[in-house]
Amino acid sequence: MSPLKSASVPEATSRARVLLHVCCGPCSIVPVLRLREEGFDVTGYFMNPNIQPLAEYLRRREAMEQCAARLELPMIWQDDAWDLTRWLRDVAGTRDAGELRCRYCYGTRLEATRHMADKGGFALFTSSLLYSRYQRHEVIVETAEAVATDGGPTFLYRDFRSGWQEGIDISKEWGLYRQPYCGCVYSEAERYAKSLAKKIL
Ligand code: SF4
Repeated sequence: MSPLKSASVPEATSRARVLLHVCCGPCSIVPVLRLREEGFDVTGYFMNPNIQPLAEYLRRREAMEQCAARLELPMIWQDDAWDLTRWLRDVAGTRDAGELRCRYCYGTRLEATRHMADKGGFALFTSSLLYSRYQRHEVIVETAEAVATDGGPTFLYRDFRSGWQEGIDISKEWGLYRQPYCGCVYSEAERYAKSLAKKIL
């Protein structure tokens, strides 16, 4: 199903409860604001074993705490999901590159979100990943639709990317930590690859 096809449904009814997977503080601002404008009752869910190394995870978690405090956003923290060995074992050698790796990464987080939404009695789930212009938007939508099984919580598709600059401006105004790479050690290496290349030449 295309993102546009699912964009108009569902609408907020009787303050429908939404579990919003949050990848970091800066990317969460616009999704929370937009969902609330529509009348949804939003709870954040921080589940991100892809943020590596651990010091970076803790730094982004702290920024998310600050953001949640500003937004008065109720939060569920899934810190026990952070397991570097498990994450690398699932990726290294079979999904190291590009889309394959990101599909796995989105899948683990969205599946966990759907599961938590089910457990917590949320009617809907979605993700702040849909805010980023740097993520594979269509792959996120496809993955979320695939994990939303019949009878459980419904995936709420929204394209939050139109609020890109607004989110940046607010995060700077609030002094939130803004990370320089996506999350995994692969993306960190890709971010700084040019610096290494200059040394080798
Ligand atoms: S680049 Fe980002 S989305 Fe892709 S696997 Fe790494 S952390 Fe996950």
